[in-house]
Amino acid sequence: MTSPTTKLNSGYEMPLVGFGLWKVNNDTCADQVYSAIKAGYRLLDGACDYGNEKEVGQGIARAIKDGLVKREELFVVSKLWNTFHDSDKVEPIARKQLQDLGLDYFDLFLIHFPVALKYVDPAERYPPGWTGPDGKLEFSKATIQETWQAMESLVDKKLARSIGISNFSAQLIMDLLRHARIRPATLQIEHHPYLQQQELVKYAQNEGIVITAYSSFGPLSFIELNMSSAENTPALFDHDVVKSAATKHGKTPAQILLRWATQRNIAVIPKSNNPDRLSQNLDVTGWSLDQSELDAFNGLDLNLRFNNPVNYGLYIPMFA
Ligand code: NAD
Repeated sequence: MTSPTTKLNSGYEMPLVGFGLWKVNNDTCADQVYSAIKAGYRLLDGACDYGNEKEVGQGIARAIKDGLVKREELFVVSKLWNTFHDSDKVEPIARKQLQDLGLDYFDLFLIHFPVALKYVDPAERYPPGWTGPDGKLEFSKATIQETWQAMESLVDKKLARSIGISNFSAQLIMDLLRHARIRPATLQIEHHPYLQQQELVKYAQNEGIVITAYSSFGPLSFIELNMSSAENTPALFDHDVVKSAATKHGKTPAQILLRWATQRNIAVIPKSNNPDRLSQNLDVTGWSLDQSELDAFNGLDLNLRFNNPVNYGLYIPMFA
């Protein structure tokens, strides 16, 4: 089974369901990527910050070599880390990331966060993370306009087919659209029933920007990080609204949560290393939740965000 696609404003088609690569360990990553492609995934959502691009590349190379897929059938996404926002740093790091992946272009390259940090030479520390060993945050003066222009030149040089943004607010997107020569194709945001961001979704979609949801299962991903707000929030899989829809449609709670997004043309990028769940997470299109179920989901919004630097002890209140 493969995923249907949605058309981006760049003219390219993007699968609505992909495989997320955050917290995929280096020792299993190549195998997991290979298994995901074998299961039918065509979109891989990676980032410099995930520290596993070499292994992702190995998994892709093996899948292509074994004839499971051709490069042009894959949709490879990666992200620009915060320490590479200065205009002269964007292209060199994009080229390094492509080299790590063993590819000559990204299908989609995103600004990971609207936060510019001081440059860190990859020879010194890679991936650089938010801070060095001293735990100190150091900022760069790069503006979003400067960084976006450098992203646009990646498209001109055919290093990226489409470019986009992640963790941006509507205010920042409004500003970006005033100067963008190439509009962002997608906006990747934390999105689940506890954090629905309905106005942001509506604004971006009206502007022709496709939304990709991350952390679709809400607190689950952050319990793995021992985040107390996640540990103290009721699991979405056990919520009555989710459970009753699962029973009615003969699907799992995970599938209901993913379908809630895809039914509104929001792409999803769940990750699993369990073969059953891998296929299950792909089967989230082609059937529909009823309007009454969608309405019930509206009532679950708590405006509760987990992936916030503030929750990791970093004082960057970017969502304030
Ligand atoms: P996730 O969607 O991978 O879900 C979290 C956990 O759910 C996983 O550990 C997995 O064990 C479990 N799971 C998956 N399928 C399941 C199923 N069918 N049944 C039961 N449990 C299941 O969450 P995530 O990793 O936070 O987000 C997904 C992807 O989004 C990431 O891998 C990454 O690519 C991207 N992401 C991007 C950002 C960003 O800032 N742009 C931030 C976080 C994540």
